[in-house]
Amino acid sequence: MTNYVFCVFRGVQVKRAILSICFLVLAATLPVKAQDIDTPVVYRSDDGSVFVKDLGKGVHLFHYTPDFYVSPFVIGDNAVIAVDPVNRNVAELYRAAVAALTDKPITKIIYSHDHRDHIVGADVLSPDAKIYAHPGTRSSLEERGDVDIPLPSKFVEDGDKVKVKGAQVRIHYFGPNHGYSNIALSFDAGIGSVLVWVDTLEIGIVPYRTLPDTNVRGYLTSLRLAAELDVDWVIGGHSGPGPGIWIENYLNYFLDMEKALRKAQAEIPPPAFTDVDQVFAQGEEHIAAVIAAAVDEMRPKYGKWMGFEQWAPLNAEAVRAYIIVGN
Ligand SMILES: [Zn+2]
Repeated sequence: MTNYVFCVFRGVQVKRAILSICFLVLAATLPVKAQDIDTPVVYRSDDGSVFVKDLGKGVHLFHYTPDFYVSPFVIGDNAVIAVDPVNRNVAELYRAAVAALTDKPITKIIYSHDHRDHIVGADVLSPDAKIYAHPGTRSSLEERGDVDIPLPSKFVEDGDKVKVKGAQVRIHYFGPNHGYSNIALSFDAGIGSVLVWVDTLEIGIVPYRTLPDTNVRGYLTSLRLAAELDVDWVIGGHSGPGPGIWIENYLNYFLDMEKALRKAQAEIPPPAFTDVDQVFAQGEEHIAAVIAAAVDEMRPKYGKWMGFEQWAPLNAEAVRAYIIVGN
């Protein structure tokens, strides 16, 4: 058994719940390559709630520690491309962090996806910036009538590039996964190629609870497509960078969970209902037993991931629903 040690600030969507940690992943099940991912902190706010890491070649990672958000930005020759302002409060801190590192203006902002918890506050971050997003993000915002989120005026699709002089961000769209409109972004950083895939890959962390707004079938397809990219490092919306192997780790996690659920379903016979009330009582007991058995099956391989005991059963609920309905 080889051990892989990595130390990185990481976070999850549980508000103010988990501190930055270093931990050990047993790589017998996760064939990751040992690499140093230490990158210098080039900015820290006075209150300690914000820091920025320099990933090289103008690429930076903004961290907001109280709620564990990360957003990348890249400094070009004359301008900055930023991603996801998070919310109005964080956008103010994000703007200050960028301004502490460069006097170049943020002229372009990219929304990773349409979820409100990542994209409020572009007008605070940089009121004159052009906003880029997948067309599905704009249509969601219009349908929801989110008046506090400036609409994107520029649409991006798979293969597009958002550029300023001396810097660019490549756009990847794999179809529906975590949301319909989620795009992944890749950067050529000093540490190597970096894929940023917000809320879709969180390094060392079990996927979030019941996989909100997720098409599981599309997620599997997207992970397979992403695994074909030449990626050295991955970053989520709350964690990273971690080795690119985390794309495959996530894919294997879901494939193993589907397999474990199917096995448990076959081994634990459902009750024979004679009354509709039994569907609720005994039916739920049966589902709980299937999920518990599937999680037990997953534990030896994935039990070291952060949040496994709390969220793997909730993940299993979502994957079981996918097995039933097909998405
Ligand atoms: Zn999201």
